[in-house]
Amino acid sequence: MNPSVWLIGAGPGDPELLTLKAVKALGRADVVLVDDLVNPQILEFCPQARIVRVGKRGGCRSTPQDFIQRLMLRYARQGLQVARLKGGDPCIFGRGGEEAQWLLEHGVSCQIINGITSGLAAATSSGIPLTQRGMAQGVTLVTAHSQDGSTPDWSALARSGTTLVVYMGVAKVQDLSSQLLAAGMAADTPVAMIERASLPGERLCPSSLAAMARDAQDFQLCSPAVLVIGQVAACRMFGVQPDAAAAQRRLA
Ligand code: SAH
Repeated sequence: MNPSVWLIGAGPGDPELLTLKAVKALGRADVVLVDDLVNPQILEFCPQARIVRVGKRGGCRSTPQDFIQRLMLRYARQGLQVARLKGGDPCIFGRGGEEAQWLLEHGVSCQIINGITSGLAAATSSGIPLTQRGMAQGVTLVTAHSQDGSTPDWSALARSGTTLVVYMGVAKVQDLSSQLLAAGMAADTPVAMIERASLPGERLCPSSLAAMARDAQDFQLCSPAVLVIGQVAACRMFGVQPDAAAAQRRLA
């Protein structure tokens, strides 16, 4: 049998948001390489597996990407069933595509198991529909942080009329706000900044395009957080409300 690796999406944090496919694969894995944004509770689904943490936060030194890839390859060639567990969805700002391609080039087949991406989960738990007739005909997932230092074309995004869901944007809130305002997006465009979506202590900071930098600072917004920008951010019809969020999570 050819060596193979599962690239598994662990979702935004809440273990109940894992797919059944992910749970089954975790239960069959011999070794699991775990990223830092993965909720440790999820590892309860693979008590039989050897756990290798390859995270880049929490005081750990960054594990170089090529080291992680070579480790996966080595385990797979030893005949072990390897699972690579990543926060959210492996292919949304998760390098899943790169890793799958690299493995394929080295003769290892790869199966990708979707996870719920944090932008989607954050919007839902705050009661925000990312698309809504008459308000947003689409949604754009975008990162404010790129390895080569390039920035997204904010003015094209401002004109797109889609809801913007910004990942890795906490350190860039001021920039983001200035760029979108300069691109002609209305100063009162609603914004929702959602921290630790689906995890205990989840917080929601409602704001506007003009006020988001100051509000994020007052709120002491921390990573991981996503920023939802667009008219739909004001439509919190259900779900966690700003002041009730923390209390509700404590009760859960
Ligand atoms: N593959 C992941 C994204 C990894 S990039 C996914 O699909 O969700 C890391 C960024 O994801 C963070 O900087 C933050 O913007 C976002 N993120 C991850 N988990 C989050 C969470 N629980 N709540 C809010 N944002 C989260």
